Amino acid sequence: MINCIGCGAEVPDIEYPAHADMRTSPGCWSLFSELLDREFSSPEYWPAHQLTVNAYALQHSASNPALHLIALCLRFDLGFSDDRILPVMRRASKAKESLPSVEAPSAPNTVTVLDVCKATDAKEHIAAVERWAKSVWDSWSESHGTIRALTARL
Ligand SMILES: [Zn+2]
Repeated sequence: MINCIGCGAEVPDIEYPAHADMRTSPGCWSLFSELLDREFSSPEYWPAHQLTVNAYALQHSASNPALHLIALCLRFDLGFSDDRILPVMRRASKAKESLPSVEAPSAPNTVTVLDVCKATDAKEHIAAVERWAKSVWDSWSESHGTIRALTARL
């Protein structure tokens, strides 16, 4: 086992195709791929999908963290459903070149992809993804002011 270079989770030390745009270890990327398989193969798991992608991207230095934070702000601050989040994200994506840079938190992650892997059914999966994404949003608290101001203008 090794610690993922992105999220710090203890993951299997395996060979696996890496992802070009994120800072992640192969074992962690393979676990994330399993979660995506669940979500793509069963409509019961699908409601978790947007949060899964945003939480994982933010824990693995994706190239546009502000974009993922806007999605979490809409969800956790404003209580938006995916239906309402998507049009705002489309507007935000068009402006992504001008989004401000935000600094990743330095504290270790308390919830990771591993916590979602433990779920045994769709209900547990969705609840675990909610906890994961909420913990990610909370961990970026130093950027909340910037992201809230940005979200208000979208
Ligand atoms: Zn990781």
